Amino acid sequence: MEDKVLVCQDCGKEFIFTVGEQEFYKAKGFDNEPKRCKECRDKRKAQRRLREAEAPAAVE
Ligand SMILES: [Zn+2]
Repeated sequence: MEDKVLVCQDCGKEFIFTVGEQEFYKAKGFDNEPKRCKECRDKRKAQRRLREAEAPAAVE
């Protein structure tokens, strides 16, 4: 295995999908490669936390 360069679907920037991350994904049974860079993933996570804080009963 080797590091892969992927393009983030949110910001369009290239990011590295490292061997370590690939192994982690494989161990978790994920077939798909990440679609977003770490920054965008963190941003989305933070936004979701915010939404959940505002409406705790909301289900996605
Ligand atoms: Zn991004």
